[in-house]
Amino acid sequence: MPTAHAHAAILSVGDELILGQSLDTNTRWIADRLLDLGVRPLLHATAPDDRADIAAEMVRLAGRADLVVVTGGLGPTADDLTRDALADATGEALVEDSDTLGRLAAWYEGRGQPMPAPNRVQAMRPARARCLPNDHGTAPGLSAALGGADIFCLPGPPGEMRPMFQRFVEPALRPGLLVRTRAVQVFGLGESRVAELLGDLMRRENSPLVGTTASVGLVTVRMRWESAPGAPPDAAAGALDRVEARVRELLGDAVITPSGAPGDRGLPEVVVGMLRERGRTLAIAESCTGGLLGSMVTRVPGSSEVFAGGWITYTNAMKAAQLGVDASHFPEVRSGAPGAVSAEVCLAMAEGARRRAATAHPGGSGPGAGGTDHAIAITGIAGPGGATEGKPVGTVWIGLADRDGRTECRRFEFAGDRDAVRQWSAMTALGMLRMRLAGTDMELLRQRERRP
Ligand code: ATP
Repeated sequence: MPTAHAHAAILSVGDELILGQSLDTNTRWIADRLLDLGVRPLLHATAPDDRADIAAEMVRLAGRADLVVVTGGLGPTADDLTRDALADATGEALVEDSDTLGRLAAWYEGRGQPMPAPNRVQAMRPARARCLPNDHGTAPGLSAALGGADIFCLPGPPGEMRPMFQRFVEPALRPGLLVRTRAVQVFGLGESRVAELLGDLMRRENSPLVGTTASVGLVTVRMRWESAPGAPPDAAAGALDRVEARVRELLGDAVITPSGAPGDRGLPEVVVGMLRERGRTLAIAESCTGGLLGSMVTRVPGSSEVFAGGWITYTNAMKAAQLGVDASHFPEVRSGAPGAVSAEVCLAMAEGARRRAATAHPGGSGPGAGGTDHAIAITGIAGPGGATEGKPVGTVWIGLADRDGRTECRRFEFAGDRDAVRQWSAMTALGMLRMRLAGTDMELLRQRERRP
């Protein structure tokens, strides 16, 4: 048994992962958890459903790391070979674990079904290994000593793997590091511009170490402080407070994470939080995003307090009929008209949605009756078809209208495929509303024009 778990290796098992038919999300989740808990991931590996390959990988990884976490291959079928491979790797025979067999029988009894015969194999374990009960499925996990390392085998489905990791692996860890992390998110600046602004703060030899990752316009600045176990935790908090303050100072208004809030809070959560704090309401009119923005907003718990509703007006006729957009903006009605993807139509959609959204029952009154405080409209060309002269694929207008009569509209040229253009559009719309609510302003990534 190792004195400390300084380094970990993660092994995922399954032909479907090797063949690219499903994505290995377990490794990412486990690596992230381990680092947070003070065990540094050193190696990732993937093995096919092959007993000898899995056993060889287990032995190899146990020679490199103090902790090996394996996921997958614990089911009852002939291609689930992790159990046998662990027996081969440890050189032990498989024995039946009576507690586990009892639990399996009870699992099926609780569901009013007889236990299928193949499931009995799931009660087998290498002689000196321990079975880990699975509260969310039938496949029990296993833990054992292998060479100088501790090895844990967990089921493949993330909904079974994660609770088992938290219940059995986390309490068994003897971290080789004391790690504390912090993150803030930034919207509107590219990752390279963020790196440029952070400058020397991102030097690899710094402590805390500062790094960035980017996804759909959102840049996450991560700060990590590491020390030997036993270092005073106050030192970590002080060092992270100082570096976070400096990050906020250097990136200014582009930082969207409120002070003291968790750094993984997304843009929809931030915007809904700001609307709730201010007691404001929102309506949405979408064209090329087809409801994506509404979906992002309504995924946030508590959004019902602020989100009145919205429209997906895909055709010009719907934009005119539902939102009151003047039909003479459309070329089929007037030649030379600006068309659906224009500042005129975008602003008319936003204003139409804001005014037409009901925030009180018919005939009712009270604050907010007759329209919302804010509205967002999106109209653009997501591609791959639909480009016209002067309007390439990725051209998107995003508009805001407020109860006080203020409006704003910006044109963007987003890159990427249809899905990317739609994601960028919805995120950028939220970014614009956040700036409006925060009373800040900046030119955004991929922005080409703004009105007024
Ligand atoms: P079960 O008895 O529930 O099948 P198992 O341990 O045998 O558990 P596998 O058969 O290997 O698990 O995988 C079951 C499913 O779990 C896979 O089809 C896949 O959806 C998911 N899964 C497996 N490995 C991973 C992984 N590394 N990342 C994400 N999902 C995974």
